[in-house]
Amino acid sequence: MEITDLSRLCIHTITTKPWSIEEAAQAYADAGIRGITVWRNALEGRDPLVVRGLLHDKGLSVVSLCRGGFFPAVSPEGRQEAIDDNKRAIDEASALGAPLVVLVCGAVPGQSLEESRRQIKAGIEAVLPHAENCNVKLGIEPLHPMYADDRSAINTLAQANDLAEAISSRWLGVVIDVYHLWWDPALEEEIKRCGHNKNILAFHVCDWKTPTTDLLLDRGLMGEGCIDIPKIRGWVEQAGFSGFHEVEIFSNTYWQSDQHEFLNKIKQAYLRFT
Ligand code: ZN
Repeated sequence: MEITDLSRLCIHTITTKPWSIEEAAQAYADAGIRGITVWRNALEGRDPLVVRGLLHDKGLSVVSLCRGGFFPAVSPEGRQEAIDDNKRAIDEASALGAPLVVLVCGAVPGQSLEESRRQIKAGIEAVLPHAENCNVKLGIEPLHPMYADDRSAINTLAQANDLAEAISSRWLGVVIDVYHLWWDPALEEEIKRCGHNKNILAFHVCDWKTPTTDLLLDRGLMGEGCIDIPKIRGWVEQAGFSGFHEVEIFSNTYWQSDQHEFLNKIKQAYLRFT
């Protein structure tokens, strides 16, 4: 299905990082955007209940809170700290009216990926009852394997599906980000598996530039890179997903540019290349 309007466009606050949440909310609303995903740094020094009122007044739906996770740690104290912090993230999401906390699951350089995965599973199980009490879902976002050293030991949608199925809670699902998953030959099959489980909780878009000059902060606008976003979106929607298309771009280049112009480019790229 062609995208013909902005009704399903959501922007992550990190995408327009130079803006405060107040500036972002105003600019998104002025641009006709209806969805916002809030990064926790945007809430610093603010009461999430007040921010909730502001976003509501601007006609913005809060799609999710980014991000929780980072469960693995070498010491038990470190793992407990991560669990406590995830509970705080769930509290913030609840206050903000966000139905979802996105999990970047974590990894520790030098600790085996298998051990990190065990710790991730234990961490999610430890916070799920709190998520359920707060009416907030948790979404496992697999990250590209280039981040397996220190950001996430969950690197394919198959691993995310395995984990979600092993825990089997209706408060837990997966988040599909084209930047992390576009290369995977099993992607279509694994998206179908999500459809069977009815657990796709979010869909993130941007593009993979050639060459990529920074492993973290050089993401491209949709259409600037090599990802066939419409194809992947088609698979995700055939699997039953009908939520927002979330633009999540970390880019030193775009952060240094005029953010109003950037927002306009996002809208054009969304309509043409998503
Ligand atoms: Zn993402």
